[in-house]
Amino acid sequence: MSRLVRWVFDSLASVLFAARCRLCQEMLTTASRVPICPSCLGRVRPLELLVSCHRCQRPLSLASQSPDTVPLCGPCRQEETDFDRLRAFGAYDGELRQLIVLLKYSRVRSLAGPLGGWLALVVKENPGLADVDALVPVPLYRGRQRARGYNQAELLARELARELGRPVETRWLVRIKDTPSQTGLTPTQREENVRGAFAARAKLDRKRILLVDDVCTTGATLNACARTVKRAGAGSVQAVTLARVIQEI
Ligand SMILES: [Zn+2]
Ligand SMILES: [Zn+2]
Repeated sequence: MSRLVRWVFDSLASVLFAARCRLCQEMLTTASRVPICPSCLGRVRPLELLVSCHRCQRPLSLASQSPDTVPLCGPCRQEETDFDRLRAFGAYDGELRQLIVLLKYSRVRSLAGPLGGWLALVVKENPGLADVDALVPVPLYRGRQRARGYNQAELLARELARELGRPVETRWLVRIKDTPSQTGLTPTQREENVRGAFAARAKLDRKRILLVDDVCTTGATLNACARTVKRAGAGSVQAVTLARVIQEI
């Protein structure tokens, strides 16, 4: 769509539907496909952690760290993490959490634009995340994706891929088990829940992969994905998510 056509379309849409911000209900004064006002978008802040695990960015307490070693969390120190690096844009609370919920459950697909832009900021801060052959969104189970109409992780991956000039591969990794929601489960239960849930559908001969998802809670899902693609031959697996749940350990 040309910019002019898009502008006309957006202006018409804003007049016809007199949209309100989906977060604060203020009238939207500028034409945009994204139904969120600039001040709500502006309240979303990137993660600021004093000390975090070098590998998975899990927040660590200052006291537990010795100043001359690379900070690593327990699971990463014990090599229980299958991805090589994980970074997130922000904490899973406040406006960011509400925006992710809108994208995921209220079909506000246009939010993938700004949210994907924030993923691109994470890559800008961590340029190593761009050293990949392809972006692989964390897959949904087929039936679940059909019911929702899309996979939010894939929408985000497509936005980020455009910035990075890398392809999105949705067939390399599939979800073969319709696992129940991870909400309310303990870290161990989460690991059990996603065990055997994924399968690689390609020979990933030394491919360098960037997994993309909306939220990371304990990292169990990303870890299961990383393990699966590494068993299929992937050379490196990094991961980027929009938000992470902050539990200091
Ligand atoms: Zn607002
Ligand atoms: Zn870690």
